[in-house]
Amino acid sequence: MPISQEALFKIALNLEDPWYITTIDFSAEGKQLDIHVDFKTGSKFPCAKCGKTSCSVHDTIERTWRHLNFFQFKTYIHCRVPRTTCEDCGVKQSKVPWARKGSGFTLLMDSMIVLMSQHMTVTAIAEMIDEHDTRIWRVLEYYVAEARCNEDFSEVRSVGVDETSRAKGHKYVSVFIDLDKSRVIHVCEGKDASTIESFKNGFRAA
Ligand SMILES: [Zn+2]
Repeated sequence: MPISQEALFKIALNLEDPWYITTIDFSAEGKQLDIHVDFKTGSKFPCAKCGKTSCSVHDTIERTWRHLNFFQFKTYIHCRVPRTTCEDCGVKQSKVPWARKGSGFTLLMDSMIVLMSQHMTVTAIAEMIDEHDTRIWRVLEYYVAEARCNEDFSEVRSVGVDETSRAKGHKYVSVFIDLDKSRVIHVCEGKDASTIESFKNGFRAA
């Protein structure tokens, strides 16, 4: 049985019922691929706040996410996101499986940005994917904060600090290291006493 283009993209995007692809618009001129996703009529969704299952759809909001390029074509996912009615929480926007809450990028796009950031500057990433660098920073800030929440600093016994110049001239960065585990635990600008204060605050917050 031949598989439709929509079904193929559904697999590629890892979409599960009730989500499905309605149309795929490809513009060679605009160098863009637009994937339109919808959910089956009558579907129920869990409440995004308390997790209560089988909430009815109250209304929907049109949203767009930037996805990984397909070859050189910018790719966008468009979908009407349901807002559910929950007896306890009221009307809440549902979570979609391909993006985190409030993000204009899909999770795969997020992963690509995080991966690239380990090897390239944010300016270079912004240029490469043709997005404003503030959008890239927002993604990185989210994942760095999340990673820091999962870090356990309770076993840190001895800390070393190293100053390094970030560029020719006077831009210094101080790097704080957990000497027992050889891992970086804090980085901040400067090389004076204020960096110790920054380290203390960051360390306490984490
Ligand atoms: Zn609820």
